[in-house]
Amino acid sequence: MSETKAKAIVLVSGGLDSSIALIMMLNMGIRVECVFFSMPFCHATASLGGVSYLEALTKKLNVKLHVIDNEETLIEIIKAPRYGFGSNMNPCIDCRIGYFKKAKALMAETGASFLVTGEVLGQRPMSQRLEAMRVIETEAGLAGLILRPLSAKNLELTIPEKEGWVDREKLYGISGRSRREQMDIAASIGINDYPSPAGGCLLTDPGYSKRLKDLLKHNKDFTSRDAALLKTGRHFRLSEKVKLIVGRNEAENSMLEMLQKEKEILISIKDIPGPNSLLSGEFTAADIKFGASLTARFSDIIDRNKKVKTWYKDENEIEQIVEVVPAKEEEYDKLRV
Ligand code: SF4
Repeated sequence: MSETKAKAIVLVSGGLDSSIALIMMLNMGIRVECVFFSMPFCHATASLGGVSYLEALTKKLNVKLHVIDNEETLIEIIKAPRYGFGSNMNPCIDCRIGYFKKAKALMAETGASFLVTGEVLGQRPMSQRLEAMRVIETEAGLAGLILRPLSAKNLELTIPEKEGWVDREKLYGISGRSRREQMDIAASIGINDYPSPAGGCLLTDPGYSKRLKDLLKHNKDFTSRDAALLKTGRHFRLSEKVKLIVGRNEAENSMLEMLQKEKEILISIKDIPGPNSLLSGEFTAADIKFGASLTARFSDIIDRNKKVKTWYKDENEIEQIVEVVPAKEEEYDKLRV
């Protein structure tokens, strides 16, 4: 096939399956460019590991890597997914339609004739079922133009196969969730140093999804900053319109301080080590006091029946002192998000 001059865009995630798909295409003489979609709903290490691995891999293979920010698109999708959510807050079908539409635009821009993914039939319950794959392709205007080399033999013939740009005989018929076959293929084509499957998408995580659901219920216009905050600290819904986030470590305390915005209050402890907290919404003086006592609860205070000095400041850095007794578990446990 090396005499063909077909060009493809390979959607890469930084995982093993799409790396195999990429190398298979190169071995078949396909001209290739890659695209990676970044988004706010990744475990930080998964997202950072994915990009740096991909940068190294594409450099080694001398392939161009496009990195497209998908943050705003995905946030809008979460607010009203046409095809609904999976078992958590993962709107996988709409999400993939969004990816493929952007990849289709890149195809036009780069003169590519088809798309390639590392998808495996039956590997993911929502988006990698046969019916879902069909819907996604049709909605993205890409019927017949998405080649899934790892599962191709289980799927209908695609245009690249019909046109003879790729040889169907060299494609696989993998299905299901086991990664055994992919690991054998990786070894046979010289991929040895791929990242282990990381936490991946937070939208499939029950804890993160619970917080996101709460955010969506109380703030339909949420932004990527709000989504990022959901990864940080302990969250408490003090009332319908008031929320408190308490940092769990130094990095989160700094993050809360950095992300404080207009009309929000930063609370911390005076004289003893303790967390920073961020109070937002339409809070009252009573909410500030309760927020301070909750912040004090997670400080290093030894006698939890004794008053603690806390301080809080608004966005104008005006500092106020308030003395509180640390909150009791029965007062705050039911407020956890
Ligand atoms: S798991 Fe997350 S990133 Fe992947 S398709 Fe679903 S929503 Fe999109």
